[in-house]
Amino acid sequence: MSSVVISVDAELGWGFHDLKDPPQKRVEYARNGWIQLHTLCERYSIPATWAIVGHLLLDECDGAHLSHPTPPGWFARERDQWRLRPDLRFGGELVRALQASELDHDIGSHTFSHVLFDDPRLDEAVIKAEIEAAKDAAKPYGIEYDSFVFPRNAVGYREVLADAGFRVYRGSAPQQLTHQRQWEKLSATINPDRVPLVEPVVDEYGLVDVPPSVFLFGFQGLPRVVCETLWMDPIVRQVTGAIDNALSSGGVVHLWLHPNDLVTERDVNRLETIFAYIDAKRNSGLAVETLADVADRVLQTEQDYQQVSLLNQ
Ligand SMILES: [Zn+2]
Ligand SMILES: [Zn+2]
Repeated sequence: MSSVVISVDAELGWGFHDLKDPPQKRVEYARNGWIQLHTLCERYSIPATWAIVGHLLLDECDGAHLSHPTPPGWFARERDQWRLRPDLRFGGELVRALQASELDHDIGSHTFSHVLFDDPRLDEAVIKAEIEAAKDAAKPYGIEYDSFVFPRNAVGYREVLADAGFRVYRGSAPQQLTHQRQWEKLSATINPDRVPLVEPVVDEYGLVDVPPSVFLFGFQGLPRVVCETLWMDPIVRQVTGAIDNALSSGGVVHLWLHPNDLVTERDVNRLETIFAYIDAKRNSGLAVETLADVADRVLQTEQDYQQVSLLNQ
């Protein structure tokens, strides 16, 4: 099986509300980026996993969250600076548009208020409250989550997810390019083999772990400009090469991004080039899967395997 999975951390303002200085451009472009990403999905018939921050599904909120056991001040930005910015705090109509699509988008969860699962101030009670709040907010939309994406990829509390009915999550990256220096990344970009094809596995809680292959906007700034001038967009080069590798050897290329990464026309062009390539390679046998599709496939195989083992006993 050769496939591409795209997972989207869909959060509008919530990905930044805890930061002292939120990146203004990305905050302001978040909604537009969401719409552009959705438009490209439709244009190239590419269903994706949209892991949404549950708070986006509320109709209104005074920012108090009195019964939510998050640390003091967690909702301060919503209450204060973003009090008059419903566009950053709510996004029900954006989610309804995904549900109305003829494509089978997978609406997953990215918690309720973007808590970090490795935050030492949090305990299991907060995590459970986040998951419950995210599920409650999704009920009026008829959404039952299969898929989970951890904020800032901090994997944790997987037993809570399993108990809550999730089946699949985006795991940790097999190699951490993010901690390398930009110029070291530069040399890595020439080689598509540096984008790992990932192997979904069933973890000890029965959840399917689908690690990411590449963050589509992890390579920015001057090195990106240098690469684009000398060759072509380095991420496009890597991803198209990785797709070719997947087609020849089998495997999953798992791409991820935030809608708020789409700030400039160049960013949108990068994504469109990749989507067009994916679409074109369907003729060669490339499948496009969501995280929920991968869970169906992997858990079915696991079940078949167990049945055969039982028969052989
Ligand atoms: Zn609120
Ligand atoms: Zn996030």
